Amino acid sequence: MSKSNKEIKCSFCGSGKQDTLMLIAGLDAHICDKCVTQANQILAEELNVRKTKSTTAVTLLKPMEIKSHLDQYVIGQDQAKKILSVSVYNHYKRLNQKVEKDEVEIEKSNIIMVGETGTGKTLLAKTISKILNVPFCICDATVLTEAGYVGEDVESILTRLLQAADYDVAAAERGIVYIDEVDKIARKSDNPSITRDVSGEGVQQALLKILEGTMVNVPPQGGRKHPDQKMIAVNTSNILFIAGGAFDGIEKKIANRLRTQTVGYKVDKEDEDIDMDNLYKYITPQDLKSFGLIPELIGRLPVITHLNPLDRETLLSILKEPKNSLIKQYKKLFEYENVKLEFDEEVLNFIVDKAMEFMLGARGLRSICEAIMIDAMYESPSEKNGKELFITLDYAMNKFEKSDLKKLKVA
Ligand code: ADP
Repeated sequence: MSKSNKEIKCSFCGSGKQDTLMLIAGLDAHICDKCVTQANQILAEELNVRKTKSTTAVTLLKPMEIKSHLDQYVIGQDQAKKILSVSVYNHYKRLNQKVEKDEVEIEKSNIIMVGETGTGKTLLAKTISKILNVPFCICDATVLTEAGYVGEDVESILTRLLQAADYDVAAAERGIVYIDEVDKIARKSDNPSITRDVSGEGVQQALLKILEGTMVNVPPQGGRKHPDQKMIAVNTSNILFIAGGAFDGIEKKIANRLRTQTVGYKVDKEDEDIDMDNLYKYITPQDLKSFGLIPELIGRLPVITHLNPLDRETLLSILKEPKNSLIKQYKKLFEYENVKLEFDEEVLNFIVDKAMEFMLGARGLRSICEAIMIDAMYESPSEKNGKELFITLDYAMNKFEKSDLKKLKVA
């Protein structure tokens, strides 16, 4: 005889037949009406999450809103902020555009940012990523090599983006990628030599394909360590690429170009209108080409923007003003120990002077602050709570002199 009705139970929740409205029989199991409803809800929720992740129109933040967010964290660099804000805004608009027949299709404009080291290129990219609701990743061009050589293939850039998008391909296809140190893949010399330039021009050639907007086969785990992995096809035509680099020495090329241009036009007024302290602002695609970027690559990065070198005043603002400025960070750290930390204004001037001396841009500020603060940070957690610490110029100079940083004197 078959099992009695009483013995039949829901295989999911264990409810007996008498506790349910209905029990549906499967091959070797039963499911009750409550479990069916619950499973249905789980399914609907999960599908909904996936759908909203990849297909909802991204909210449009106006360029001014984007810039004012950047202003909270990045000091100065107004031109770069403006250009980035507009480009990101247009990127959003393009993503939201439903191209009807005959309608003008907005094309993407990848960006290249040029500016000395430590002037805020990466900071700008990172800060902008915080307000984006599209996947974003930062990659370093120095690790890339031409396919088949030691190093990473350019496709690894898209692996990062896929990872940032939780492997949601549709979301990754509308993402933003920041490629740092793009100047390091400049052509090594103008003469085509017998040896291949696998980390320079070879990488630029490989990048073309990705920047252009094609279907690229991406190894989901990245690298060549997993040769048997199944490739994921990613369409790059809607991915916004932002490249950044210091382009050390490009000022000379800009100066040369400006001089040759001025000659013949305003010979007697030569250099008069040119701001020799900030030649970056005159940068053109031509200069990038003389630096060693290939014209095809430059053509695919049509928006050029520059970052200004940081002067004394800007460095001082960077120390104090941003939402998470170094001074605010130290104060917070000491607050956890119930110590009220204050700095003499002269100490801040001293830090800025040293940073100017080391010529490391804002990057030098942190190491100098660390050198001054390390002893206090070492001692204060073991001391009695609830006191005040006032950093005087003498104290700062003393700690700095004792630190290894002093040896970093510029030649
Ligand atoms: P790079 O231009 O070499 O990419 P970064 O963006 O990495 O320079 O800057 C290094 C550090 O210097 C940042 O983490 C930030 O703390 C500080 N910094 C640089 N420029 C600025 C700026 N304009 N405003 C605020 N902080 C800055």
